[in-house]
Amino acid sequence: MSVANREYGRIKASIVVFISAVAMLEIKLPIHETFQSTVQGEGYWTGSLVDFIRLSGCPVGCPWCDTGYADGGAKLPRRERPIHELLAELKSPRVVITGGEPFIQKHLPELVQALLAEGKKVSIETSGSFWQEVSPAAWITLSPKEHINPRYPVQKQFWSRTNEVKIVIETGTEIDFYQEYLSAQSSLPVYLQPEWNNSAKTIPLVLQLLQQKPHYRLSLQTHKYIGIQ
Ligand code: SF4
Repeated sequence: MSVANREYGRIKASIVVFISAVAMLEIKLPIHETFQSTVQGEGYWTGSLVDFIRLSGCPVGCPWCDTGYADGGAKLPRRERPIHELLAELKSPRVVITGGEPFIQKHLPELVQALLAEGKKVSIETSGSFWQEVSPAAWITLSPKEHINPRYPVQKQFWSRTNEVKIVIETGTEIDFYQEYLSAQSSLPVYLQPEWNNSAKTIPLVLQLLQQKPHYRLSLQTHKYIGIQ
């Protein structure tokens, strides 16, 4: 191949990359809400300055869902917004993509890619009920809900892909339910989070569970204690 042909090929490839990047920014996702310059209240990144992108929709139906999806959330806000608009409002070094259930959105991988290209760190919070490949650079928080609704089992790939596990403790039987997977991934950080609505019961319960599992950690929803979103 001549030098001129090689140069032509290189320019053509750059143009294709540029057009794909522009097209990616036009992709729309259903947004419940976004908010910026807050702190992550839960799990490994507690206390970090973050922005939130809350994607719309979740079919799992946890009775104590604190984002409004206990009954499917048909009346909750849902606005289709392009990725470039979401990027334009970012303020913090880390962006938390949450829901609802982010993994039901087919364009989640592109959203993650666009945020990383913008130089942001990315965290995704999921029940693990729906699997998609996303960039390995994204931090994943698996908060399994299979014990609440067995119709939405955790997709097995998540147990080896997740960076942390966060289990909402309501009855104390949750750890046993996932024990097989937790034992197989023994180096994973595991957070036990008292269910907020019944905290008089669930905080002592978590403290008790920590005595049995001293390598697990307490996760409090600190944003609720300090009254921020
Ligand atoms: Fe709510 Fe999460 Fe349960 Fe969905 S999986 S209903 S978003 S708590």
